[in-house]
Amino acid sequence: MTTHDASPSILPLTAEPTERPRLLVVDDQPINIQTLYQIFHADHEVFMATDGQQALDFCRHGMPPDLILLDVVMPGMDGLEVCRSLKADPATADIPVIFVTAQSDPADETRALEAGGVDFITKPVNPAVVRARVKTHLTLKAQSDLLRSLAFVDGLTGVANRRRFDEALETEWRGCRRGHLPLALLMVDIDHFKRYNDRYGHQAGDECLRIVARTLKQGFGRARDLVARYGGEEFACLMPGSDLAGARTKAEELRQAIERCAIPHAASPVADVVTLSVGVAALTPNGENTPSDLVAAADAALYSAKSEGRNRVCSAGESDLAPTAD
Ligand code: GH3
Ligand code: MG
Ligand code: MG
Repeated sequence: MTTHDASPSILPLTAEPTERPRLLVVDDQPINIQTLYQIFHADHEVFMATDGQQALDFCRHGMPPDLILLDVVMPGMDGLEVCRSLKADPATADIPVIFVTAQSDPADETRALEAGGVDFITKPVNPAVVRARVKTHLTLKAQSDLLRSLAFVDGLTGVANRRRFDEALETEWRGCRRGHLPLALLMVDIDHFKRYNDRYGHQAGDECLRIVARTLKQGFGRARDLVARYGGEEFACLMPGSDLAGARTKAEELRQAIERCAIPHAASPVADVVTLSVGVAALTPNGENTPSDLVAAADAALYSAKSEGRNRVCSAGESDLAPTAD
């Protein structure tokens, strides 16, 4: 077999960045890659790998492809093994794999499908057939991606839902623990929202929730920051890498931003517009504390903000938190 040096092992076969579907073609024979490239390059971004390990490296580091056209018989790691590895890793398990092979024995086909392939095409490929099958599987993939993303979005406000928040909290907690970074959490609750509904009606209440969600979201710039609807009229904002002081500043900015929205709230004893109470906490995960400690501390701080008169930011006092230093 041919060996490949470590430097660019995977070549983008189209240069310009594009929204076109990303296909990875894996075959030890460059002529086969060329054939598929000719069929797809006009409306797909085509990448190539000439052995199994390259294919796995490509999928694991960087942006995974939308679909893989995978040769079965290759020196070293064969296509079945590549496919099994992809399916065993949650990060790559959802990439559809179509096997493209010279073998046409039903037993081979069965093995390929058992390894996790979605389809099986024999060489030499018929361009119309391979195009149609790729199109079908890209459509199915796009639909399942959409469904999965909808499962993590709050239907009313469009921000992350509670399920997404719970997952992000676990993930960011682990990430901050590895990086010895603090993780900050803001618990945000609309003041006297029950009275708002009573006064203006449930539909106006829904619209108010949308405005608050949008304004909170616009207040964050970092990619890892997350605004989620935690429940009812309560939102949670996760700020990986932020300490308590930074989170307090952000919380105060958000409180003021909602005030500036000037949503009339004539039934509120606190102000004549909709206001927020915010509880802030930050912890550096260290193995002795847990994500629940962070949520409990932010909740306690929110409770203080409410009991001290609402329309304010409170942060968890030292006594509420384990030390943030390791
Ligand atoms: P506080 O200042 O103590 O937070 O008082 P509050 O009235 O905001 O808090 P409470 O928990 O008593 O009431 C929350 C209200 O939020 C009651 C509920 O009807 C309303 N609410 C929860 N979810 C929704 C929703 O999706 N749409 C609308 N319109 N209202 C909602
Ligand atoms: Mg409230
Ligand atoms: Mg509430």
